[in-house]
Amino acid sequence: MLKELLYKENYSVSEIETLLSLKDEEDIKQLQDRANEMLNQSIGDSVYYRGIVEFSNICSLDCYYCGIRKSNGEVGRYALSKDDIISSAKWCADQGYGSVVLQSGERSDENFVNFVEEVIREIKKETISEKLPRGVGITLSVGEHSKEVYSRFFKAGAHRYLLRIETTNEELYRELHPESQELNERKECLSFLRQSGFQVGTGVMIGIPGQTIEMLARDVLFFKEQDIDMIGMGPYLVHNQTPMAEKSQMDKDPLLQLSLNMIAVCRIVLKDINIAATTALQAVVPDGRERGLSYGANVTMPNITPTEVRSSYKLYEGKPCMDEGRQECKSCLLGRVHSIGRDVAFDQWGDSKHFALRTSRTENF
Ligand code: SAM
Repeated sequence: MLKELLYKENYSVSEIETLLSLKDEEDIKQLQDRANEMLNQSIGDSVYYRGIVEFSNICSLDCYYCGIRKSNGEVGRYALSKDDIISSAKWCADQGYGSVVLQSGERSDENFVNFVEEVIREIKKETISEKLPRGVGITLSVGEHSKEVYSRFFKAGAHRYLLRIETTNEELYRELHPESQELNERKECLSFLRQSGFQVGTGVMIGIPGQTIEMLARDVLFFKEQDIDMIGMGPYLVHNQTPMAEKSQMDKDPLLQLSLNMIAVCRIVLKDINIAATTALQAVVPDGRERGLSYGANVTMPNITPTEVRSSYKLYEGKPCMDEGRQECKSCLLGRVHSIGRDVAFDQWGDSKHFALRTSRTENF
């Protein structure tokens, strides 16, 4: 019965709910095996690195769950200089990482947009080498913008974008955000990104208070309907200086298993997309990222944010790797990948195969 379900071509909400709810050890093993089979068949088991630079924690949004929300007056705000960001990207290129993620809190003012645009251009110019003839691959994660702004970022040289939808359930979205932040606008941004030429990534938080398995199943079907190229998702974790801190959090073990089941189900349903094993998994258990990889993920993001500011980009309690230098992160993560019998594909962008198949534009970047 479960075997049949794991080999379906199309899934209903209730079938996805069944898979997400698996708890029996034997059943979970079958789910994990199927996810790995799909990974190997559709894209191969190489792991791709994206060095993540959290270049600013200044944010104009007020998401009730996030440690760097505008109204958190306890957090010291920072913005890295252009030179610091570019040198971080160059370090990545030298290490063979192939790609970077530039992430920050949300700002939509012209100064910020110009700054990001220039940083992208400079990084592209400065990281061209024999190994990376088109420079490092750049994923942006700088929130909601107009179509024009996304097009500017794309033309400057970024080619992947991560904008989590957080949840596709209207009521739950309302509970997590102030009135001024709307689910429909976030959805619209995903289509702007696609129209601008980006490989589009999205994702949700898992285990949000009030979230049901059915909501998560509908999230997976939303990814499918939207023909998403990449997923970055992880467990919701409390930050003590947020309004959500009053609500109780899921216990660690079921939260971890649900997050892993989500990764496996996304791999099975969405097949050839890129899926990240995110840092938040490692906040739940020390080997969280390896576990994410072993449930079908193929991307991981070593933190290359300068250590002086890292602790100010604390989105949730227990965020790992706050003090480790870049070199330590590199060797630690490599050991983690090798520990599960996988290898890192260095000096490659590691683009989404799903994107390559849905377009024929990848060679034009
Ligand atoms: N400003 C950009 C945006 O909104 O897409 C990127 C930065 S934002 C801090 C990155 C992601 O952090 C969010 O999409 C959210 O899913 C995640 N995040 C924030 N607070 C979190 C929490 N308490 N637990 C887990 N993830 C969290």
